Amino acid sequence: MNTCGLCERELETGYLCPRDTLRLAKRLAELPILYAEVGECLVPRRHSWGDIIATKGAAGPRSPLNEDVLDVISAGRAAEVVRLWRVDVQRVRWPQHGAPAPAPLAADCRWLAMELDWITAHYPAAGDLAREVGELEAQARSVVGDPLPRRKVVGQCIAVTDDGGTVCGADITHSAGESRLVCRTCRTVYEGETDLLLLLHYQPQQTA
Ligand SMILES: [Zn+2]
Ligand SMILES: [Zn+2]
Repeated sequence: MNTCGLCERELETGYLCPRDTLRLAKRLAELPILYAEVGECLVPRRHSWGDIIATKGAAGPRSPLNEDVLDVISAGRAAEVVRLWRVDVQRVRWPQHGAPAPAPLAADCRWLAMELDWITAHYPAAGDLAREVGELEAQARSVVGDPLPRRKVVGQCIAVTDDGGTVCGADITHSAGESRLVCRTCRTVYEGETDLLLLLHYQPQQTA
């Protein structure tokens, strides 16, 4: 008789109960989305509306963030943790293979999700894997909120992104409670009445 590595429920075979397996699958699917959102919340903004014109290319202001938080909760750290699990699962399952090539967090999550049947049936550390993935999820949610705030498209970015006058044009989204708009493509910040009026004024013509 085995027990589930997470909740210690008794199991006929394997190392993770069906309920915790389902949760792990869900978390692996959500982790890349959550950490993309963490990046939006914690990464220092590179440009503001003013300095994209005035000091293009110059370094932005120093981040007012607590750097400790950035060390503990970041997409980079999540990617490292998930990578180590992928490397270990692959080592146990295919000892003759070398370590997997570097891959982004989303690819490693997908790979683990695809190997989940094998992991729950044959991988003794499945409970620890599930626990660490659960911790990564909880840490991300402590930053971005739970449930994830819904974002609404409010217009297109009007920032000029190069010397040739190219306009960014990416969708600008907003979620309840945010006091400024940030373009996720070029990172221009629209903050305050003047910025918002300019943003509104320069919206491309509706083609409806
Ligand atoms: Zn369990
Ligand atoms: Zn933009």
